[in-house]
Amino acid sequence: MNTKQIKAFGTEAADAALEQLAITRRAILPNDVEIDIEYCGVCHSDLHFAKNDWGFSVYPVVPGHEIVGTVTQVGDKVTAYKVGDVVAVGCLVDSCRSCNNCKADLEQYCPEWVGTYGGHDKHLDMQTFGGYSESIVVDEHFVLRVPDNLDKAAIAPVLCAGITTWSPLRHWNVGKGTKVAVVGLGGLGHMAIKLADALGAEVTLLSRSPSKTKDAMDLGADHVVISTDESQMAEVQGVFDLIIDTVPYIHDINPYVGTLATNGTLVLVGYLGPLDPMLNSMPMIMGRKNVAGSLIGGIAETQELLDFCGEHGITSEIEMIRIQDINTAYERMLKSDVHYRFVIDMASLKP
Ligand code: NAP
Ligand code: ZN
Ligand code: ZN
Repeated sequence: MNTKQIKAFGTEAADAALEQLAITRRAILPNDVEIDIEYCGVCHSDLHFAKNDWGFSVYPVVPGHEIVGTVTQVGDKVTAYKVGDVVAVGCLVDSCRSCNNCKADLEQYCPEWVGTYGGHDKHLDMQTFGGYSESIVVDEHFVLRVPDNLDKAAIAPVLCAGITTWSPLRHWNVGKGTKVAVVGLGGLGHMAIKLADALGAEVTLLSRSPSKTKDAMDLGADHVVISTDESQMAEVQGVFDLIIDTVPYIHDINPYVGTLATNGTLVLVGYLGPLDPMLNSMPMIMGRKNVAGSLIGGIAETQELLDFCGEHGITSEIEMIRIQDINTAYERMLKSDVHYRFVIDMASLKP
């Protein structure tokens, strides 16, 4: 198969810094779109994967799944896109297209879904490389249209931070009158606040960081509760219909379950792995409370969100960086010092 060598930024090992390296992309196939990458958001999952936090990273790792750019080539059978279109790619670049989940537009739950990085490119028989790179080749089914009224850099985080919070907001029917709480004000958390607010919900931020209170209110939160303050937590017992927990590392979720209303649901989207301390079933049984999880969103749902953002003028709050600053950005992310998403100007990779 024809291939192309391009420049990227990635890491060869869990304890190594990210640096410039060369990667292989396939030449376009009949259904493929080639995209010149202009902006790529920096997700905490990029850091988890680069550092092998989940134990299944394959090196070299080239992260990045909040990609916005311009179409430079299309295959013979491509119908939805043409050269010059502004498009986006999120966390998924392939799936089986025939299982029940794929047929239901839930490609993210397909047993054969292929992540934008760290997945398996069946055409090249090697791992996929993400958006910290010059360009990407993707089947048109997994390419998204970007509304032309929105800033190209600030829309990039919608491709992961946005859809990961939008999917549970939609699945649990959030709207006017719903009481939503968001745990953690980072990339996902700030999009969750904006989107829940735009859907008409009453929104509370549950945060460890009192310094983020004003920002949360500016983003659309109606209330802020400091999660380490027991008296503040006591005031919100039995209140929330939906809690979206974005905290990336292991933490005690039992105090949050207590803040759910009867029939309420706490959705874990951040931490991946066994809970410790264990989940106490008592408040769940006594109050018919639910604990659930959710993974990104399907392609149709991601397009629905991009269109919603276009209609409502919603984008992410971003701090633009050069690719050469990525290691410092990761250090800041570990300290929760992100306001509220780093986006890489990929022109910095193409001097
Ligand atoms: P982020 O920007 O780093 O934000 C995480 C926030 O969590 C922090 O700002 C902080 O907010 C809070 N936090 C609480 N305890 C923390 C701790 N020990 N260390 C760091 N932060 C802590 O991360 P993100 O990009 O929003 O991603 C959040 C998590 O979601 C990551 O684990 C990521 O892998 C995961 N994720 C999951 C999906 C999915 O499909 N389920 C998709 C994308 C990302 P406060 O200061 O307000 O407490
Ligand atoms: Zn992500
Ligand atoms: Zn499938």
